[in-house]
Amino acid sequence: MLHALDDQMTPGGARAGFTPAERVARLGTETVFAVSAEAAALAATGKTIYPFHLGDLNIPTAEPIVQAMDRAVRDGKTTYCPNAGVMPLREALAADVSAARGIAYAADNVSVQPGGKPVIGKFLLAAMNAGDEVLYPNPGFPIYGSFIEFLGGVAVPYGYVDDGDRYAIDVEQLESRITPRTRLLILNDLHNPTAAECTAAELERIAEIALRHDLVVLSDEAYFDVRFEGASRSIVSLPGMAERTVILYTFSKKYAMTGWRLGAAIGPAPIIDIVTRLNVNMESCPNHFAQYGALEALTGDQAGPQAMMARLKGRRDAALRLLNAAPGVRCHTPESTFYLYPDVSGAVRLTGCAGHEDFRRLLLEQTGVSFCTRQHFGKALPGETGYHLRLAYSGVTTTQIEEGLGAFKAFIESIEPAESQTSQGAPR
Ligand code: PMP
Repeated sequence: MLHALDDQMTPGGARAGFTPAERVARLGTETVFAVSAEAAALAATGKTIYPFHLGDLNIPTAEPIVQAMDRAVRDGKTTYCPNAGVMPLREALAADVSAARGIAYAADNVSVQPGGKPVIGKFLLAAMNAGDEVLYPNPGFPIYGSFIEFLGGVAVPYGYVDDGDRYAIDVEQLESRITPRTRLLILNDLHNPTAAECTAAELERIAEIALRHDLVVLSDEAYFDVRFEGASRSIVSLPGMAERTVILYTFSKKYAMTGWRLGAAIGPAPIIDIVTRLNVNMESCPNHFAQYGALEALTGDQAGPQAMMARLKGRRDAALRLLNAAPGVRCHTPESTFYLYPDVSGAVRLTGCAGHEDFRRLLLEQTGVSFCTRQHFGKALPGETGYHLRLAYSGVTTTQIEEGLGAFKAFIESIEPAESQTSQGAPR
């Protein structure tokens, strides 16, 4: 029956009696999931795949967290709970986030969410009017641009520059894109996909810009606690910023809890109250018993997350060693996130590939290494040059890294530079 309905649909949907809302044409997606599906289909044919495409973890959630959730189920935490989440978790989140950022948040400043991602849409629903301009990072998490435009806002991208040994927000460009209609700024310091991180001075400059132009900020801090060296900084720690910033917090990455779907919006109570009213309208409350697992994650023994970071660091180093030894590949050493964003411009030239997608397909086919490229994180900005990949090392073992990136390096090495000159543009 449902198929019959589909079959009747004209592109406009007129005959089937279903016309998608106009805004649906503006709703984007995460094309990363399409790469996952492609890799899974290849794996099903028996091909060995090295999955560097998805920012998920192949490390299980620590046992004490699982046990705490189990106990909560048995204790009857199977009912609805308060719309903003259970009080002990809101208090623990306020304490944890305050301590790391030097701010005095209270439970009122916290609305627990089914993941970090919903904070993006709810922040925009609460703070953005149709026609408002919103600055967002590009390359960046694709959901920002998708949701801004879906809700009738104007998505205004700002980019990143390669500083020689790191990526940095192009602050000048960011400021140059501000107009009288710019209302909001989305910041993702500790950045997916580049792993860029602002210096203290850059963060101060951005805060100064936000204050001068009266911008409300969404600070996506999904990777704040995923770091190997040093300490993360948040824009909320700077004078005047906590009053105009909502933090996107998530349990997904730090605690290997991506499938639990737990995160939080943390910020000024008036906007957090609206976020909670959106909870009422959308899901009533976050999963009740899962929140007790999250409470254990925050307040319990930190040996699990620490061991996970040590494993991730070993993977990062193994991946960097092989990538930087491959011809035409150059990769910085980030201290945070579990992403690498190598510049592969030389390797793309060597292979004679026509662009990002051509290179991705060729390497997948030849080596089984599955990764995303710059193109999965927004449309290239005018003037942007070069080719970049995003490799997530959160879902591969060190052995898989060595095998996969070993094959990746060997494949590029096997290409004769002279031959690549003549094969440029030739069909493969
Ligand atoms: N922000 C960024 C920058 C991310 O990379 C992700 C996940 N990949 C999220 C938000 C959302 O994470 P989650 O919904 O799993 O908490």
